[in-house]
Amino acid sequence: MTDGTVGLPAAPPVCARHTDRVSYVRCQRCGRPACPECVVEAPVGVQCVDCVREARRSAPAPRTVFGAPLRGGRPLVTLSIIALCAVSYLLQLVLEWETWTSRLAFYPPLGDVEPWRFLTGAFVHSDAPWHVLLNMYALWIVGPQLEAAFGRARFLALYLLSAVGGHTLVVLLASLASLDWYTATVGASGAVFGLFGAFFLAMRRLGRDATGILVILGINLVLGFVAPNISWQGHLGGLVTGVVVGTLYAYAPRTRRTAVAVAGTVVVTAALVGLVVARYALF
Ligand SMILES: [Zn+2]
Ligand SMILES: [Zn+2]
Repeated sequence: MTDGTVGLPAAPPVCARHTDRVSYVRCQRCGRPACPECVVEAPVGVQCVDCVREARRSAPAPRTVFGAPLRGGRPLVTLSIIALCAVSYLLQLVLEWETWTSRLAFYPPLGDVEPWRFLTGAFVHSDAPWHVLLNMYALWIVGPQLEAAFGRARFLALYLLSAVGGHTLVVLLASLASLDWYTATVGASGAVFGLFGAFFLAMRRLGRDATGILVILGINLVLGFVAPNISWQGHLGGLVTGVVVGTLYAYAPRTRRTAVAVAGTVVVTAALVGLVVARYALF
C-alpha cells in the first residue's frame, strides 16, 4: 500500500448491530448493512431484524372475522366452565342434597328471593353421570371454537345469558298450579343450547354449511319434549337467548362491533331481568 489519501479503499461495510462483522448484504428497507445473524428473509428481498420488528409492531393485531384477537392457546373460559361443573358435580356426590345441590338448583318458587339460582342452576346436574357428561361433551364440541371466534368476554356473556335465558322461559311458561313450578331444574343444557344457536349463526355468517348443527339442535329439542325429566322450556329459552345474542355478536357491523356487543349484552340482560321481575310481580 502507498502513503497518502488518494486511492485508499473505503472501509468495508460492517453490520449495523455488530460493528466487528463485515457485511456486504444490505437491508432493503433501511439500507444498512446486516450480518447473516441480523438479516431476515422478508416477503420481498431481505430486511434487518430491526425493520422486521418495527413492521410487526406497527401492523394491526390480527383478528377473527368476528373481531376477537387471534391468540391461539387454550380455551380458558370453556375449560373453566367445565372445571366448575366437574367440581360441582363431585360435591353433589359427596355432600348432602340440602348442603349443595338444593342451594344452587333453579327452583321457580325461590327465583325472586334467591335470584342467583337463575345462574347457578346451570352448574349443578342430575345425579346420573350421563347428564353432566353429555352437557360437557357438547360444550367441548362448540365452546373452544366460539370462544376463539368471539373472544373470551363475549363467549362468557353468551354462555351465562343463555343459562339465565333458559331458566327465564321456565318461569314465564310455568303456572302456579302446574308441577313445573315446583320442579327444580338443573344442568347446563340451556346454556349449551344457546351456544349451539350462536354456533349456527356464526357458521352462517362465515358462509359455511350449518345444516349439521340444525339437525343436532332439532333432535335434541324433540328429545326434550318427549323424554321425561327434561326441561324443554330451559332448552328453548337457552336456544332463543343464544340466537339473539349470537346474531348481535356475529352480524354487528365491523366498525361498530364493540358498541353493538356492549349495548346488545346490556339490553338482553335488562330484558331478561325485566321479564323475570314482571313475571314474579304478576303472581
Ligand atoms: Zn433495516
Ligand atoms: Zn449483525
